[in-house]
Amino acid sequence: MSAPGGLRASPTTPQYGASAWLLHRAELTPGRQALVEGATTLTYAQLADRILRAAAVLREIGVGRHDRVATLLSNSIEFMELFYATAELGAILVPLNWRLAAPELDFQLHDAGARALFVGAEHAALAAKVETELARFAIEEYVRRRERAVAAERPAERALFGEPHLILYTAGTTGHPKGAVLTHANVFWNIPNMAIPVGLTDRDTTVTVLPMFHSGGIGLYTVPSLTLGGRVVIVRKFEAVPLLDLLQREHAALCFGVPAIWLEMLKLPAFTQANLPELRFVVSGGAPCPTSVMAELDRRGFIYLQGYGLTETAPGGTLMPVPDWKRKFGSVGKPAPFVELRVARDAGEPCDAREIGEVQFRGPNVFAGYWDRPDATAEAFTADGWFRSGDLGFLDEEGFLTLVDRKKDMVITGGENVYSAEVEDALFAHPAVAEAAIIGVPDERWGEAVCAIVVVRPGMAATADELITHCRSRLAKYKTPKYVVFVPALPRNAAGKVLKRQLREEVRIRDQIKA
Ligand code: AMP
Repeated sequence: MSAPGGLRASPTTPQYGASAWLLHRAELTPGRQALVEGATTLTYAQLADRILRAAAVLREIGVGRHDRVATLLSNSIEFMELFYATAELGAILVPLNWRLAAPELDFQLHDAGARALFVGAEHAALAAKVETELARFAIEEYVRRRERAVAAERPAERALFGEPHLILYTAGTTGHPKGAVLTHANVFWNIPNMAIPVGLTDRDTTVTVLPMFHSGGIGLYTVPSLTLGGRVVIVRKFEAVPLLDLLQREHAALCFGVPAIWLEMLKLPAFTQANLPELRFVVSGGAPCPTSVMAELDRRGFIYLQGYGLTETAPGGTLMPVPDWKRKFGSVGKPAPFVELRVARDAGEPCDAREIGEVQFRGPNVFAGYWDRPDATAEAFTADGWFRSGDLGFLDEEGFLTLVDRKKDMVITGGENVYSAEVEDALFAHPAVAEAAIIGVPDERWGEAVCAIVVVRPGMAATADELITHCRSRLAKYKTPKYVVFVPALPRNAAGKVLKRQLREEVRIRDQIKA
């Protein structure tokens, strides 16, 4: 396309990735607080210095452009150092979920081809069970090296805006997880997408409680806050009473949590807007939020904003506009400012208002594809370039989105996604299991709980406990079935596909769930 009026073609994106944004911020406000974790506070200048030193450490151990660096770290300042240091070298960060079992971590390390792994002290025992051969660094060792390192001159190989920055593993429909690749551009566009609707500013303190190995812990609101010059308080592990205390003490303006977190917080009578006068919004997403939770937050005086997105949308896709939150109870809001969203029929044409279809996304926040999985990447997009979320919903006449169901066979328990296929594969590996199907059953605390429906092979026997132990040795605890129901056969359609909706109904009706 030629430019009108004889104009020159100007660049449409910034040149560099995430480290450039942070280092620039540090030049603007070197003395302001950037990160707080426990008793440690870092100013922007201190954080920038640490990032350049961390980049020197990474270079010293041989990390170069596009190399993958994995972490097994709890939310921490060190995690954020490595987040930016990898960007400074054009390397790719692979934050691993420390809730996983060792075989799952081995799969991801191998799949990503990671060359180094940084391990937090609290995850050393888990890391010891990981078999993959690669350079390992205990976080204490990293800190020692960083202290000694000479802050690198700005390296010439700094990541470019369109290059990959993160590989975030999301559960896969076919058993194994896939590494969703987010570019710096994807991470960048989440900043205005999520900051504009809530009016986030450099005067705001945000609290990060979601794990940083998920896109939510990075994008809601750690990186947006740090890019805008705000103050981010890092929570290592969620506990309701300490979080309430922290929100008060740190004068938090905003906190993002999955619904299970707000449910826990509401158990504290002191969790009220009156006790948190500076908390402008309680923000939530990642899993369906029961309307009872919303109603109770309203009763306690909070403004509750629900958003919706996926790892693949970096993650913010929609957010509730502030003025509408009560009028549109139950909706996940409107598309974020730089996101295109449509609800489409199977054939691809857009649905009418209130007609249910698949939610699809397009825009600069949409990920670059799955690592080394061109097949899965191709499948994730429609022929005309829209990302298929696998979520079902509808838009109302005013353009507000409501989610109604999931097309993908997945359970969300406490904000963590569990793909049924992965758990079913684990169950099939047990000699007594002839057939198995995973469904989500309602759970008061976690939203949904993983329930296995199992058919035992003729002449063999297995107990629920035995199958649960078997799964736990291969899978994260949150993926391990909480309930096992034995049946003589699974309901299937003519094509042999298990009828999960029917199973969910049957299990609910029979109420024969046993722990
Ligand atoms: P993840 O990739 O882990 O962020 O998970 C994304 C999935 O979480 C989406 O595809 C939805 O199924 C679900 N999800 C995210 N936000 C919401 C929400 N507000 N309400 C219901 N489900 C949600």
